[in-house]
Amino acid sequence: MMSDVTDCAESPETIAMEETRETETGTGRDSPACSKAGAEAASSASLLYSRELSQINEFEQPSRADLEKCRVLLGPRRQRLTLVLDLDQTLVYSVPLDEESACGEGIKFSVKIRPFAQELIQKMSSKFELVVFSAADDAYVRAVVGLLDPDRKYVSRVLTKTSCIAVKQGQLVKDLRIFADRSLSEILMVDDNIYSYAFQLGNGIPVTPYAGEDDDNELYYLMGYLDELCEEQEPLHVNTQKIGLCTV
Ligand SMILES: [Mg+2]
Repeated sequence: MMSDVTDCAESPETIAMEETRETETGTGRDSPACSKAGAEAASSASLLYSRELSQINEFEQPSRADLEKCRVLLGPRRQRLTLVLDLDQTLVYSVPLDEESACGEGIKFSVKIRPFAQELIQKMSSKFELVVFSAADDAYVRAVVGLLDPDRKYVSRVLTKTSCIAVKQGQLVKDLRIFADRSLSEILMVDDNIYSYAFQLGNGIPVTPYAGEDDDNELYYLMGYLDELCEEQEPLHVNTQKIGLCTV
């Protein structure tokens, strides 16, 4: 069963929302971030994303003024670490309800919550300060976050398209330097699209893109990986070593 949300100027309260999710466990699929470790994972991640990494090599760094325009203050620290979570294809799978509506205002979407997404948000909020950062439009993003965390008990900040840096190649990058009151060493970002963390590859945790499968276990493995990182003195260093994404 899917949930419907509407990407329009309506307040989130007016949007019909119906929670859906599955709780089945299983063996899961391989992913560079969560089901492998050490040098093997590092090497497989770099191979898996070689095309994207060579393109990222060509990205021009944003100017200081560009970063300043997107500047975010998170305020008093809730946890030692900040976890930035992508939305589409990371926590949910969302499709326009029909092609006609996709071309106009007030688009309606079917939204399927990824298995373990709500457990992840709930559990990780005791270890990380959670920020949802999506490259989608504001009304849509807030409506979908409302499905995942209806009482906003777990997600402390929501950022949308206007906080992304656009590069000439057409990608939207979520540059972590916009968090003015957090150090890069305190931030990790989970995103199915590695362009999102193009300028801080070491902070990135890639996940397989979610396309609505009922037996998806990626976030189950991700929780285990994040639990391990939390125990580390230098989680960013460990993540960089394990994932091993870098440009050449
Ligand atoms: Mg995504």
